[in-house]
Amino acid sequence: SLPAPPGLQFSAYARDLQHRLEGPSGAAAKAHWLDSLAGELPVLDLPTDRPRPAFKTYTGGQRGIELDAAALAAIKEYAGERGATPFALLLAAYAVWLKRLCSTDDVVIGVAMAGQPAAGSRDLVGHCVSLYPLRSRASPSEPFGRHAAEMQSALLDSLDHADCTYGSLLAELALPRDPGRLPLLSTLVTYETETQGLGFGDLALQVEAAPKGYCNFDLELYLTETAAGLRVEFHYNADLFESTTIDRWLENYATLLDSLQRAGATAPAATLDMFGARERALLQAWNATAAPFPREIGVHDLVTRQAARTPDAVAVVTPASAEGGDSATLRYAEVETRACRLAQLLLQRGVAVGDRVALCMPRTAELLVAILAIWKAGACYVPLDPDYPRARLAHTLADSSARLVVTDSSVWPGVHDAGVEVCALDREAAALAALEPRDPQLGVGGEALAYVLYTSGSTGKPKGVQVPHRAVSNLLAALTRVPGLDASDCWLAVATVAFDVSVAELWLPLVVGAQVVLASSVDAQDGTRLSHLLDAHGVTVMQATPATWRLLLEGGWAGRDALRIVSAGEALSVELARELTARSREVWNLYGPTETTVYSTGTAVPRAPDRITIGRPIANTRAHVLDAQGIPVPIGAVGELVLAGEGVTLGYLGRDDLTAERFVPDPDATGQRRYRTGDLVRWRADGELEFLGRGDQQVKLRGFRIELGEIESVLVQQPGVRAAAVARREDVPGDQRLVAYVVAEGSSEPAVAALRQGLRDHLPEYMVPATYVVLDALPLTPNRKLDRAALPAPDGEAALSSRHEQVPPRTDTERALAEIWADVLGHAAVGTNENFFDLGGYSLLAARVLSRCRVRFPVAVSLRQLFMAPTVAQLAAVIDAMRSQDATASDDAPDARFEIEL
Ligand code: AMP
Ligand code: MG
Repeated sequence: SLPAPPGLQFSAYARDLQHRLEGPSGAAAKAHWLDSLAGELPVLDLPTDRPRPAFKTYTGGQRGIELDAAALAAIKEYAGERGATPFALLLAAYAVWLKRLCSTDDVVIGVAMAGQPAAGSRDLVGHCVSLYPLRSRASPSEPFGRHAAEMQSALLDSLDHADCTYGSLLAELALPRDPGRLPLLSTLVTYETETQGLGFGDLALQVEAAPKGYCNFDLELYLTETAAGLRVEFHYNADLFESTTIDRWLENYATLLDSLQRAGATAPAATLDMFGARERALLQAWNATAAPFPREIGVHDLVTRQAARTPDAVAVVTPASAEGGDSATLRYAEVETRACRLAQLLLQRGVAVGDRVALCMPRTAELLVAILAIWKAGACYVPLDPDYPRARLAHTLADSSARLVVTDSSVWPGVHDAGVEVCALDREAAALAALEPRDPQLGVGGEALAYVLYTSGSTGKPKGVQVPHRAVSNLLAALTRVPGLDASDCWLAVATVAFDVSVAELWLPLVVGAQVVLASSVDAQDGTRLSHLLDAHGVTVMQATPATWRLLLEGGWAGRDALRIVSAGEALSVELARELTARSREVWNLYGPTETTVYSTGTAVPRAPDRITIGRPIANTRAHVLDAQGIPVPIGAVGELVLAGEGVTLGYLGRDDLTAERFVPDPDATGQRRYRTGDLVRWRADGELEFLGRGDQQVKLRGFRIELGEIESVLVQQPGVRAAAVARREDVPGDQRLVAYVVAEGSSEPAVAALRQGLRDHLPEYMVPATYVVLDALPLTPNRKLDRAALPAPDGEAALSSRHEQVPPRTDTERALAEIWADVLGHAAVGTNENFFDLGGYSLLAARVLSRCRVRFPVAVSLRQLFMAPTVAQLAAVIDAMRSQDATASDDAPDARFEIEL
């Protein structure tokens, strides 16, 4: 008589009956286990407090709690009602907890069971422990009862298939081995009942766990039924976990068991409460970031106040440029006067409060003046990078319905079809001089927009993020405290105004009385020039993307003791952080999307770090780590970072659909919104956030934020292209590039040069793929979606050839140069007429070419020279000219080689 327990699946029940009737042999037992472990096996990735050593260690630790008799009775009753044993229930709760902690639906748990019954001798004394790998694949989105039934049937099955050892299973599975882990199982569970009524004459008996100094698995759960209740113990690898983490996990587990009693039968297991008091307190403390800041006034008013305090201090320096421009400085009072005049001019031209004014300026002091003037006139600015293609600028102008564009004739790319009024400052000198330098004082408040900044859009068109003054003021107030800045500082600003980090470097110095030195866009991409500027201006702070910092290092930068480094915009690697901390006073890693106003979290990077974090939320910012259902995940677990607080902006201009998707109501603050970043992070036990990558197709390349979907949508519009995919690849460590995969429309392959030009007409240079591969079809996943992981590495065969006739090098310099290019670019040979950038070169590779040139020739070729002379023949001519000049000028002017004009 074998009644089917309620909750047990019929198929499991049928299998169970069959096995009881047949009595499986060893071979059948093995077949059962292999069947349950079929397919790709999960690796349990427990969130560790310390990096996992390359070779497994066994240092053990142990923590435990006691659940009282009432709790145990409740567990038993709950299990009984569902036809499960208490063990199955405890095991299911453990599996649910593991899945939520490790964001997975699939775990394999080792269960240790007495082997005596299998051996047919219950009285046998010895360590007869069998280990069964129980797999649990129920999703946390299913109710808990489903998990309990799954574990119950797995337990029954394992008893029926005991005739197979774990060792022989492992041999059969032939898993790939990782010396840092045990194969297949990372966790073990045992359940025992403490023997009652055992007596030794008059001796009192007390059972205690023997402390172990050694632990086999990453985490072992020991459940012991005692007279007093249930003892729950974790034995753990003490090289991976802190005891405080284990204590929190014990609390998680106990809370989960407790909340089972209250949960409805259909509630998803993912919604069961599992946060203990400790965990709640920590999360609350980490988000307790309230701090005062000037919420009611515009950022320009903060600058005005500073100008009143230090009118004669130098505010902005435009260094003498490599192109020959003179160095210029503006004092605070001058910045203020000019901004007032320009504001008057803008008002005359019809700019009104609430307007959007496009800004397309060279990187001189006038850039800051123009932004202040736009703010004083009550408008917000829309930054345009003059180097972007006209089609993109036209889209930004039209989408933002800009009232006017403030520009300079030297850079205005002439986007006429956008039908926008142009105000070129170099042509307005007379008009400006005639105006009163009077501050319009329009009372622009904190909720008014400060800027609208366009970022890549996944469906093809960039979208404008609307940022209010209040969010910028909060950012500046927060950064003034940490990392901190004062009047003695000098900040070298290198970011384009089309990238929001420019907001920090332009205005933080100006609200504390410090100096900002504006590197030109050419200097900002040249490691040698940057290192020169850092020293020449006594710079104390510079903020840049990891790519720019690498560029500086590739140029042989030795460092600067007084320098505080801010790394931002994309993930900082441990290697780069080590190099930078060794060469500076301090290094900060700051994180934030445009949608939450430049920076939302940050931290000082310790010297020689072994892990990088993005730190803690800045002032008035709350960070939440949530699962796909928007439920907080436990500390240590991976989830999406969702940001709340003063930095949250007003959404995308004219895109209510997109705004509603990403800016969701904040349950902690009625009427406010929080922003879903799409970034995957986890809380570390010390309250810092660790960045783990993206949950979607957004990528960062040299700090630029790119939606691959945007490139793909332009690519499929090109003639001859039927389908397309774009990937960011790093086939050689440190060499990131975009690769385009195209499926041709007809029988003939599209020409790379045409594709590239077609993309260049619509996308900025950094979004144009370096390499093109033709495929017969795009690889698809079983559910017919693009299988990005299956996109092949480009090789010489598959890559479309953009290379026509190769003219072999003619002179010694050309030969040497062609060799260097071929080597750096990974090509077999390079012809004299081939363009470095068309061959897949980009700034990091360019820096490599330049440092090799310095050794080989030896002259200091600049990045600017490579940009302007991008073929082997052209650059060889430049080098030859420099060398002959060197030879004649070496006596009196040893530095002349830096100044050679093309
Ligand atoms: P953006 O809007 O251009 O500032 O890009 C924001 C995105 O860049 C974030 O959502 C992250 O994916 C990435 N990001 C920015 N700063 C960092 C950082 N310090 N570490 C890792 N990723 C970063
Ligand atoms: Mg950012």
